[in-house]
Amino acid sequence: MTVESYMGACNEYYYATRDPLGAAGDFTTAPEISQMFGELVGAALADVWRRAGSPANAAYVELGPGRGTLASDALRVLRSAGLDSPVYFVETSPVLRDAQRAAVPGASHVSSIGELPGDRPLLVVANEFLDALPIRQTVDGVERHVLLTPAGLAFDRDGEIMETSPARDQAVAALSEGLVALGGVALIIDYGHERSGAGDTLQAVVAHRFASVLDRPGEHDLTSHVDFQRVAEIAREAGAFVAGPVEQGQWLERLGIQARARVLANAAPDRAAEIEQARARLCRPDQMGSLFKVLAIHSPEWPGPAGL
Ligand code: SAH
Repeated sequence: MTVESYMGACNEYYYATRDPLGAAGDFTTAPEISQMFGELVGAALADVWRRAGSPANAAYVELGPGRGTLASDALRVLRSAGLDSPVYFVETSPVLRDAQRAAVPGASHVSSIGELPGDRPLLVVANEFLDALPIRQTVDGVERHVLLTPAGLAFDRDGEIMETSPARDQAVAALSEGLVALGGVALIIDYGHERSGAGDTLQAVVAHRFASVLDRPGEHDLTSHVDFQRVAEIAREAGAFVAGPVEQGQWLERLGIQARARVLANAAPDRAAEIEQARARLCRPDQMGSLFKVLAIHSPEWPGPAGL
């Protein structure tokens, strides 16, 4: 089968059968490291919502919300800013849907971006969502396949690999068209590169370690780096405006993570070291600060969000 079908089938099974997040799982995401991450996402959305004239009917939307931690932190800030929005989660995993309902009671679930409401502006967040969507790999213009050999699974060809992702392109196009039609903004946060280029970025992670992509299909998290240049091109083609990308560390600092960390540490001095450690993990270039990028897509009528 193609690498694209392999990645799609593996991840569908993987996410449908477990909660992969956190210390006891396979990987830890930014909102699971500290409440500061979701709070600053919420603050950025609250600010842009106010500058757009505080439309009372705006909805909060998250793509692949994991355990619902980011949403619950962001919604606390949005509510204190005066927006009591309905919440829509685009999620396919039944296990994670249960966790999300527990974290954000009253949230509605849909399975694709096309099923989101079509009658209100959208405040959208996607953290580590696009990296999980299947990619197509080619070598010298020929699509790469995974073969079943007597010795196990193997790739049919190696060489200089080019990656594209029709699923990702389609998600970004649908999202951008929705924002242009309805108004609103999306924050896309993920690991990846600012410029398109060649290279094999498909990776497998299990229990916080890299593993072989072909080992134990469906039992490891398969992801690939997001090509932010491509994301921006697709959004612009749909008529949306783009801001960024900027590195996650810089973005969080511009949004005031230092000040937020100080407030939290003053309120809980026994947790000061832990809070500082979390801030460093999110921001330092040798940790998540540089590899992760933030890009905003917004409708032409809406202002661009802060920090970009
Ligand atoms: N945003 C969360 C979780 C990231 S993990 C966080 O930051 O913690 C990827 C998320 O995307 C999971 O919730 C997973 O179930 C969801 N997901 C993966 N593929 C999907 C697809 N094709 N459609 C909808 N959701 C998907």
